Amino acid sequence: MKNSIRISFEFFPPKTPEGRAKLYKTREALQVFNPEFFSVTYGAGGTTRETTSNIVTDMRRDGISIAPHLSFGGDTEEAILELLNLYREAGVNRIVALRGDMPSGMGAVAQLVYANELVAFIRRHTGDYFHLEVAAYPEIHPESNSYDDDIRYLKGKFEAGANSALTQYFYNPDSYFYFIDQCEKAGIDAPIYPGIMPIINFDNLVRFSRNCGAEIPRWLKKRMESYRDPEDVRKLGLELVTDLCETLLEGGAPGLHFYTMNQVDASAHVLSSLGLGAQ
Ligand code: FAD
Repeated sequence: MKNSIRISFEFFPPKTPEGRAKLYKTREALQVFNPEFFSVTYGAGGTTRETTSNIVTDMRRDGISIAPHLSFGGDTEEAILELLNLYREAGVNRIVALRGDMPSGMGAVAQLVYANELVAFIRRHTGDYFHLEVAAYPEIHPESNSYDDDIRYLKGKFEAGANSALTQYFYNPDSYFYFIDQCEKAGIDAPIYPGIMPIINFDNLVRFSRNCGAEIPRWLKKRMESYRDPEDVRKLGLELVTDLCETLLEGGAPGLHFYTMNQVDASAHVLSSLGLGAQ
């Protein structure tokens, strides 16, 4: 099992030079897990265009496999092509292609470009050069009209040329297994990697989950709320996420994509507990 499990780690672009220096150390520490790639998110509406591309090209200079997240936001086709060229020249060969969201406050101002259209755009202009990851939602995207529509749109991303998908995080493994089943029934045969969110700050997680439509099970919420000591929260979080990963891998998940929140400890602890340490 050990060698066939694909591991990847997601970062967000820090705002300060200190945060950036810390991120490089985090990246180095996580390298021992031999990840297939690291990825760096893209601020809603392209708000981190410079920082994301700087971090990606910098890390690529160290020879690692790194994937920028990308969405059209409010950008022109020329601006996106420029970024694609920059990445290609830097030897970056993987992109996480997204629709993205509007930065808060800009709600109805501009039209977002669906991810399938971005995938088609990248394929049209760069052929098969990039490996394209797209987003998938086992608990269904919050704006979706229906479960079936969401799967149909995911299929559209693969038909446009995506290679694999990374999911939104979830804590109920059945939602993933059911989703995979439904995707297969709909004719999707590309790998769909579960997104894993270690529990670091529970209050932040609850707030964030409300927006992105990820469900926090009632029993978990009740239990976490009863703890006064952050160490108890940390311990239960690690135990729960390790169990979740174990269940996912035993049930056939092809790998794990960690939302690291730019931190080493939680993801490293889970992977080591799973016996997926230094490979
Ligand atoms: P789409 O696949 O385009 O779907 C968006 C919505 O529209 C869905 O409800 C879908 O059902 C519907 N839809 C899709 N295609 C069509 C169509 N052709 N016609 C009509 N309806 C359609 N956000 C960021 O801003 N930056 C990031 O770096 C980032 N990284 C992420 C990484 C992962 C692994 C995940 C799971 C999410 C990430 N997000 C990020 C969040 C993501 O941008 C939001 O969830 C966004 O609302 C949807 O993006 P998408 O690519 O899934 O959109």
